[in-house]
Amino acid sequence: MSAVSTGDGVGLNPPQRAHFMQLLERDLSTCGGSGELVGLLVIHLSGVGRINLELGYGMGDAVLEQTVERIRKAVRPDDLLVRIDGVDFALIMPGLKNIGQILLASRKIASVCAQSCQIQDQRLSTRPRVGAALAPVHADTAEALLRCADQALVRAEQTAGGLYVFETSADPMTSGSLVMERDLEAALDNNDLDVHFQPKVDLDGGRVVGVEALSRWQHPERGFVRPDLFIAAAERSGLIEPLTQWNLNAALRSQQVGFPTLSVAVNLSTVSLNQPDVADMIEQAVAIWGIEPAQLVLEVTESAMIADPPRTLATLHRLHAHGLKLSIDDFGTGYSSLAYLSELPVCELKIDRSFVLNMTEHRQSENIVHAVIDLAHNLEMTVVAEGIEDQATLEQLRAMGCDVGQGYFFGKPMPVDELDDWLHDSPWSTGGAAVPAGADDKTVSARR
Ligand code: C2E
Ligand code: MG
Ligand code: MG
Repeated sequence: MSAVSTGDGVGLNPPQRAHFMQLLERDLSTCGGSGELVGLLVIHLSGVGRINLELGYGMGDAVLEQTVERIRKAVRPDDLLVRIDGVDFALIMPGLKNIGQILLASRKIASVCAQSCQIQDQRLSTRPRVGAALAPVHADTAEALLRCADQALVRAEQTAGGLYVFETSADPMTSGSLVMERDLEAALDNNDLDVHFQPKVDLDGGRVVGVEALSRWQHPERGFVRPDLFIAAAERSGLIEPLTQWNLNAALRSQQVGFPTLSVAVNLSTVSLNQPDVADMIEQAVAIWGIEPAQLVLEVTESAMIADPPRTLATLHRLHAHGLKLSIDDFGTGYSSLAYLSELPVCELKIDRSFVLNMTEHRQSENIVHAVIDLAHNLEMTVVAEGIEDQATLEQLRAMGCDVGQGYFFGKPMPVDELDDWLHDSPWSTGGAAVPAGADDKTVSARR
């Protein structure tokens, strides 16, 4: 980390706003052609004023110094921390690759700042708030970027996790909306979310082998909210941890009661995968519900795996050692290097549905699907095709040697009682559909 921020006690340095703006402007101009992003975090530490009042300024300063020292240890060498006002700091993060990285950084900073400080014989803590913005995605000048991060900070005040990444949209039910986050928090508190299950079918034997658990939210006034929208909102506002925990427990409870012989897959978002206690949380849920670890599949996207490799790898190895199965979701949409892929303790690769949906019409998609199947097999992984909507696609995938399929053709995501009926009635649940037969279409499509 650079000199401006150094351990000579940035907490006590006079505010350096003007200098900071110059440095930010410089970073923005140098990132121009490189395609790299510059992240800006503004960090507000509430509660220091009260410590000053009750215990004296010396104690307040000591808390600031310890907190700054922790931030300093948590960031990368090129990041730059500046005190811009009394209890407000700014962190410039050059060289970012995607929005996921700034989310992770915000999370990390909020978490280290929230730890209590031991000063003399007292344990003291502040209430950190972190607002984040990304250049040139949100703005391309220092002034404008700081304004975005400040606006995000205002929103962070109202989120459960105390952090917020700037979002441009004004639609009240898009992912960036405070309304959405407030309502999602209430839905989590009131247990108003739901989990649906979608079958995964072994293409060779024609038999269901597992299900994927997908969260559903029926908003009382606004109706169905798309999961990708509310997941993004949860990530942005710190609600992803309770959401992941809720989804995992709901999935395992249903599995134990409704379909104990099938494996169940849950999705882990980029942000939840990088939370320090995620492995504890998952191992606890497995123990509570008494499920065989090998029956739980964790679906993780490629981008999640590359966002914070050392920590991600450690978490993945730990979960693998615990006997859980790891799967790479939406494969083909990220940018994993093959070398990296072969090092991961994953046993399943899911081909993104965008390739599968049009593979019967687009040669290029078909070629990609074929190549991914071969790649997975060379790496001794099971390969799953998601988004199978018709018999022709199924047959093509079978001919290519794809192991498992998932899609509306077999069954849409459904509530657990509907899954129960499906498991009784569908030819895919008994293996009766192993031999390609057009007649099976009717049974399956009647359930769509
Ligand atoms: P995903 O994990 O790739 O899940 C598969 C998505 O494909 C689901 O969308 C499913 O409904 C859809 N799908 C399945 N078969 C077909 C098909 O034949 N045709 C088409 N057009 N679509 C099909 P859904 O439920 O909208 O979920 C979207 C994404 O949201 C999921 O993608 C997953 O990444 C995320 N998600 C859902 N629930 C959770 C959750 O509890 N936690 C996390 N972290 N992510 C979740
Ligand atoms: Mg998935
Ligand atoms: Mg997927």
